[in-house]
Amino acid sequence: MPGAESPRGSRSQGRGDEAIKHALVKKPRFARGFFFGTLNRFMPIPVDLCIDARWIVPIEPAGALEHHTLVVDGGRIVALIPTASVERDYAPRERAALPTHALLPGLVNAHTHAAMTLLRGIADDMPLKPWLEQHIWPREERFLSPEFVHDGTLIAAGEMLLGGITCCADQYFFPDAAARAYRQAGIRAFIGLPVLDFPTPYAADADAYLQEGLAARDAWRHEPKLTFALAPHAPYTVGDASWEKVVVYARQLDLPIQTHLQETRAELEQSLAADAMSPLARLERLGVTGPNFIAVHAVHLAESDVELLAAQSCQVVHCPVSNLKLASGIAPVAALQARGVNVALGTDGAASNNRLDILGEARLAALLAKVASGDAATMPAGLALRMATLDGAVALGLDAAIGSLMPGKQADAIAVSLAKFEHAPCYDPISHLVHVVGRDQVTDVWVAGERLVRDSTLTSLDRFELSARARMWQERMQGR
Ligand SMILES: [Zn+2]
Repeated sequence: MPGAESPRGSRSQGRGDEAIKHALVKKPRFARGFFFGTLNRFMPIPVDLCIDARWIVPIEPAGALEHHTLVVDGGRIVALIPTASVERDYAPRERAALPTHALLPGLVNAHTHAAMTLLRGIADDMPLKPWLEQHIWPREERFLSPEFVHDGTLIAAGEMLLGGITCCADQYFFPDAAARAYRQAGIRAFIGLPVLDFPTPYAADADAYLQEGLAARDAWRHEPKLTFALAPHAPYTVGDASWEKVVVYARQLDLPIQTHLQETRAELEQSLAADAMSPLARLERLGVTGPNFIAVHAVHLAESDVELLAAQSCQVVHCPVSNLKLASGIAPVAALQARGVNVALGTDGAASNNRLDILGEARLAALLAKVASGDAATMPAGLALRMATLDGAVALGLDAAIGSLMPGKQADAIAVSLAKFEHAPCYDPISHLVHVVGRDQVTDVWVAGERLVRDSTLTSLDRFELSARARMWQERMQGR
């Protein structure tokens, strides 16, 4: 894949802000004066929805607009215009008023294992290896099933939507069951098809994983809000022969590859001892790396690894809470970004986090980058927010469709309330979104123009049913 540009997205980084500004305030579809006579000349255009907001943070271009309106029709963004001119130009069927809110693109969680919400808090306070080997894998061996994945994914989708996440990159077993849950919830999902060299209740070997996963993709690939990737678990759990098969399928089907990479120091040291090269160098030798390669974690990198990620335009997903909780380390995010590497944000699974909260990750990412570099100017709030939105979309190859409030993109947007006295005063809404408010202040969420959270309440899912499903699985796992 080196050098190959994905046709799925534009990977728009570096686009000139001037061109973007021009596109931002899109003219009505009928030019003024197009119609003869006075009756039609000022006829407002019917559209599905107008969202008026105190502030709009479109991400492209950077900065915040005051008293603007997002115009939506057919699930897409039509225009972003001053609220004062809405009535002259548009006749919305629905109008939402957000007088004390900031409206911004839906957050992108670029790495999670959604169904692991059912293992939330089951084992804390230990490093990755014993956590996986003594607690997670034995429970998955015993309880993993399509029902487990469906229910866990549904709970995760509800939690993510309430916290303003409109797109997640998932990688877990039984992707068919996950796809069912995502369709029910209405959230956008990038589903990584898992590959491992050892058996689980889902599949026996790498060939069986690939077969099962690709069958699920075939069944769901026409679902508009679902996209697919290959997701081998990690270099240390997948051998060269399996990686070679993954590369063949990825090229044939134009699928990205997402994997956990160099999460712990031990992983890097063992690879250097066994293969005399880093896991990333090994993947490069196998033909895995390139713009469609998404490295999750990338905490312990050799200098040559940073060079390789930059030279091949690889994608990185930073999961700061999970990296801190498992004491894995602090990823060199500022160094990667300085070399031009795109870095997105992920929560990882709820079992190692223990929440699916991208606003929280953005704040922590900014704080860690500052302390790790010894420079308080590192990662300003605007950059942290872009990582939580547009850079996530770029990492998943979805930036032509989502990640910013540009006309033509899907209407994935969230409203965050800045109304309370403890949020006041507000001199800069972008700073507030990262450093003052949390996910609990997300009040409304639209995905492709559909309002999936209204006044902090899910519209596509029943919270009582989600609680009941979580209780049922807890009782099963505790043997009651
Ligand atoms: Zn993970």
